[in-house]
Amino acid sequence: MNFNRENVDRIRKEIEPFGARLLAVSKTKPVNSIRELYDYGQKAFGENYVRELQEKQAQLPADAEWHFIGHLQSNKVKYISSFVSQIHGVDSLRLLQEIDKLAGKNKRIQNCFLQIFIATEETKFGLSFEEALAILNSPLLHQLKNILINGFMGMASFTDDANKVRTEFKALRKFFDEQKNQFNAPTINLKELSMGMTSDYKIALEEGSTLVRIGSAIFGERINS
Ligand SMILES: *Cc1c(COP(=O)(O)O)cnc(C)c1O
Repeated sequence: MNFNRENVDRIRKEIEPFGARLLAVSKTKPVNSIRELYDYGQKAFGENYVRELQEKQAQLPADAEWHFIGHLQSNKVKYISSFVSQIHGVDSLRLLQEIDKLAGKNKRIQNCFLQIFIATEETKFGLSFEEALAILNSPLLHQLKNILINGFMGMASFTDDANKVRTEFKALRKFFDEQKNQFNAPTINLKELSMGMTSDYKIALEEGSTLVRIGSAIFGERINS
């Protein structure tokens, strides 16, 4: 068994009462491990690297659902645009324009989450609430025909301080709730809140996450990521 079945069973039970979904983060993990988990009923997988995602997608059944959760460069969108279900880490209008262009070529509507910066660490990507609002209100966004901003993604600080993590998730949830019904535009329909990883997904669920992104608890620790 190349994944931790006990943990998968437990996580499924834990998220069920919240009506949330599990995204299995499979970055750096081999295709055979992903395939085993797929056969165990997990269909949604998250990857951080474009080339790796491309290779894995080609080897898994076509109904596997792939999410790109890393930092996406505009010049690499073309490699995943034909199949990726959800892009989590969108942090600029320029990137949205590129995603839109390629989604159009592929005759798809591309689901995107704006990544919002909620941590206090300098290393995490993402938009401030003000920057996110500027994008959501931009006439340039509303001209796009092939993207849908269907939620937000956020990463809490990497800390043992559960209260700090909770405060950060709470802030994103509040922003999400405030913005949810503010836009009457075909490019925006805020439904999902992607929050929570192995170390903090329980707090994230309590604070309103609809999609938890879990890697190590399922596939074991990564050697390098
Ligand atoms: C790697 C990664 C995860 C999963 O992290 P774990 O701690 O292994 O659960 C979740 N979200 C993002 C954006 C990641 O890069």
